[in-house]
Amino acid sequence: MSGKYEFFQVIQQYLKEAARAVELDPTVEHLLSQPKNEVIVNFPVKMDNGEVKLFKGYRIQHNNILGPFKGGIRYHESVTLDDVKALAAMMTWKCSLMKLPFGGGKGGIKFNPREHSALELQKVTRRFTHALGGNIGPDYDIPAPDVGTNSQTMAWMMDTYMNTVAHVNKQSSRGVVTGKPVASGGTLGREKATGQGVVHCITEWAKDNRFNLEGCTYTVQGFGNVGANAAMILSKFGASLIAVGDHTGYLYNPEGFNEHKLTEWVREHKGIAGYPAGKPITRDEFFSVKNDIFIPAALENQITEVEAAMMHTRVVVEGANGPCSPEGERALLDKGVVIIPDVLANAGGVTVSYYEWVQNKRSESWDLEEVDARLDKQIKAVYQEVQHLARQKNIDLRTAAYGLALKRIETVYHERDIFP
Ligand code: NAD
Repeated sequence: MSGKYEFFQVIQQYLKEAARAVELDPTVEHLLSQPKNEVIVNFPVKMDNGEVKLFKGYRIQHNNILGPFKGGIRYHESVTLDDVKALAAMMTWKCSLMKLPFGGGKGGIKFNPREHSALELQKVTRRFTHALGGNIGPDYDIPAPDVGTNSQTMAWMMDTYMNTVAHVNKQSSRGVVTGKPVASGGTLGREKATGQGVVHCITEWAKDNRFNLEGCTYTVQGFGNVGANAAMILSKFGASLIAVGDHTGYLYNPEGFNEHKLTEWVREHKGIAGYPAGKPITRDEFFSVKNDIFIPAALENQITEVEAAMMHTRVVVEGANGPCSPEGERALLDKGVVIIPDVLANAGGVTVSYYEWVQNKRSESWDLEEVDARLDKQIKAVYQEVQHLARQKNIDLRTAAYGLALKRIETVYHERDIFP
């Protein structure tokens, strides 16, 4: 991968193509081509050694015609304003596609969380939340976990926010973030929700294609929340994980990894490196491993035309946001590989976040069966809608998913019109 990857431009191009495919009102396309608000904050944090460091945080609020801005917070050394704008726009399409009463947002801080102690991470999170101030809120903009953040991060964000609102509003502020620990107002099923959604898409694809998952092979890039949960759930269908990679390296095991043991290892060692039951391979070797299902679950722009040329797979299920570059995607489609796009494949996370938000509003806690059953029904129905439109218009699944999402937003713009 060379040169700067213009992620936001890529998303704008997808918007343009999908708008053409579904004959979107050009005014609506124009409105959606830029985010509504771009919030940038710089804030100081005192490190454990007494040094004061300045951090730059972003929160992009792309669109809220369907409901409060909604989207994750990313802590990663490569975060840029451009990435966050792209990811925020994708949240608008994702929430619309899933028929959730949310708009799209995304935030992040450019730093490597692995280089900081738990106390420093807590301070960074609290100062960031404080700096965002009234730019977030349970009915305005609702963050969630993303790369480098987790339920603990959300507990700190919620607590900080609660401490900034009036006493009478404190308890009704729990829904300011989703993906919280269950005891602090989170929902059962959220931790695994994105991976669960990935697997629902795989089982629907397998059913439609009369493909037997039992004994098939798959590979996963990124073994964090999305990758590890998808793998653990997929293992129940008898599929075999034969290659895996993360920021610490890549491993191969033709006999298949034990997904649960690997997850335990990663929890303890913060990466897959050193896991004994696998042979270390290079990144290129990883992409060359022949498999049936490829799950990218790390970062954007991982499958360019270079990786696509090496890959031998039937279906790419985008657990990550934007893992294929447009050239990579074109090369895969030309080879006959099916791509189940991010806005559908990883929408399980935001869907269960919505269930958490509803439970917070109603002071309810649903049992896991209820959460699982709702997600199962919701994501499979949308999967079939996307398939149907793709077949009807002879377009790829990404364009179809974008098209459905955009048409829903268009309807609301037409009903509400432009103020004043
Ligand atoms: P995570 O931090 O839990 O895991 C990220 C994984 O990517 C880790 O295994 C890490 O080692 C790996 N990684 C990071 N840099 C890498 C590199 N350069 N090469 C290879 N691997 C690398 O994050 P996550 O929440 O699992 O998110 C993964 C992807 O899924 C992101 O694109 C995110 O936007 C998307 N996503 C997450 C959720 C969610 O609910 N967490 C929901 C929707 C989409």
